[in-house]
Parts: sequence; structure tokens; C-alpha cells
Amino acid sequence: MRLVREADELRDLAGARIGFVPTMGAFHEGHLSLMREAKANQGFAVVSLFVNPTQFGPDEDFSRYPRDEAADAEMARSAGVDVLFAPSVEEVFPSRTTNVVVSGVSERWEGEHRPGHFDGVATVVAKLFHMVHPTDAYFGLKDLQQCAVVRRMVEDLNMRVRLHFRPTVREQDGLAMSSRNRYLSPEERRIAPMLNRSLRSASGAIVATGSSESAVEETLRESSAHLSRSGFEVGYFSMVDCRTFLPQRAATQHSYLVAAAKLGSVRLLDNCCVAQSSAVDLS
Ligand code: AMP
Repeated sequence: MRLVREADELRDLAGARIGFVPTMGAFHEGHLSLMREAKANQGFAVVSLFVNPTQFGPDEDFSRYPRDEAADAEMARSAGVDVLFAPSVEEVFPSRTTNVVVSGVSERWEGEHRPGHFDGVATVVAKLFHMVHPTDAYFGLKDLQQCAVVRRMVEDLNMRVRLHFRPTVREQDGLAMSSRNRYLSPEERRIAPMLNRSLRSASGAIVATGSSESAVEETLRESSAHLSRSGFEVGYFSMVDCRTFLPQRAATQHSYLVAAAKLGSVRLLDNCCVAQSSAVDLS
């Protein structure tokens, strides 16, 4: 595996097809599954490791985001990655005058809770696409709204990259793997899988009750209340259309339940498809 710091060095390194996985490091099995798939599908895998300052708010954890480049490089190498692109902030952001803003889909939920977050994400992903020139790029459905934002951006800006959205990799008890899970206390870690359990049982209830508007509303309210009683500080627990991220009151084939909830200082995100047939289809 080759370690690269400057975009110019990426030129002519790869064959005809490049599978690209943008990341912020602190790798776990969720990241590695995307890397292995990029390598298997395109034969040449490029992974970026860049903790993007522009997607963190002023009160967020940019400075304490976990960083261990040596360990990450070893994991990427063992996943078959060909190039680890670990640029400096100056390399990625010579200035900050041009930004990509994806309106609509980025406005609610995470966008509302973290103002400017998706502008930072869209801008850095667009920049990385221009530096790496991938034919294919891989994202995890764990960050479902991010998938919808990137998909909108690629379509709106006529970018010639094929997007792959891959299922969330979970711990055995259902907790979605996340670089931030390491900050959960043992007691919080014990409670954390309830978020996924609530999403799945709410999804089952919505399918079972035929998704009348009042039944959906009641299920969402009860799920949220149940999490609050169990010690979560619930940010939202809602049903959305996964393409637009507009709230939905009745289920369709594009319905997902999305939730964000804090345990202590750790904010957990998860989601669950309501109609299983469209599980990874954001089209
Ligand atoms: P991050 O380093 O957190 O920015 O994540 C890099 C990529 O890995 C994003 O596309 C994430 O959605 C994806 N990812 C993070 N956690 C998981 C997971 N548990 N399962 C699958 N993909 C994930």
C-alpha cells in the first residue's frame, strides 16, 4: 500500500477503475467492509483519511476526534487498499471561498442539529472526488442523510462517479459501529443497542398496522418516549422519504425511520428501512 499526502501524486497511480472510500479514520469493520468491496469491485482501492474541519460545528469534537494514522494504515493495508490518501488541511483547503451547498435534502434532521455540517461534507466530498477521480465511490448507509446529500450533489453537478451505498455494519448486539462508540461508558454501552431495537420494532409495528397516519404518529411518539425513559436524550425519531429527507406520515417504499439520540456526551445515529424491498435503493 502506498501512502500519499498530495493530490498531484495520485495522478497516473491507478488503473482504469478506481474504487474510492472517503473516511475520517479511526477505522472499524464498517470502514473495512467498504474498502474490501471497493478493492473487490474495481481492483484498485483508494481510501482518504481526512478529519474534515469544515463539517464540525464550533462546539463539536473536531480536536478530540480519534486519530491514529499508523493503526489505520495497517488496517487499510490488510483490507487490500492500494493507496491511503492522507492529505493536510492546507492541501485540501488552500482557501475556503468555494462551497457546495445541497439545499433541501440537507436541511432537516442532522442538518438542523448541526448547521453547516452538510455544506462541509458536500464540499469536501466534491473536492476529494476531484483529487482522486474515482470511477466508483462507497458510502455507508449508517449515515443515511449523508448518502442522500451526496447522491443529490452527484446528480445535480453531473459528476461522473458511480455511487455505492452499503449496509450498516453492527456489533453483535445491534449497535451500529461508529468511531465515537469508544466514548460510551460501560453503562451507556449496555443501553446503546436499544436505539437499533426501537427502530426495528417501530418499523415492524408500522408495517403491521398498515401505516395509517395516526398509527405511525403514535408508534414514533411511543418509541421516542421509551428511549427517553431508558436514559437517552432523543434528538429525533422520525419517518422520512430516504431520497428527499422530508418527513412522512404514511409509509411508502422509500420510507426509513431515522433517529439520533444522546447517551451522556455521545450522540448516536441509526436508521432502519421500513419497506425491506428498497433497503439500499435511494433512487
Ligand atoms: P467516517 O469515517 O465516520 O466519516 O465514515 C466513513 C464512511 O464509512 C462513511 O461512508 C460512513 O457512512 C461509513 N461508515 C461508518 N460507520 C459505518 C458502519 N457501521 N457500517 C457501514 N459503514 C459505515
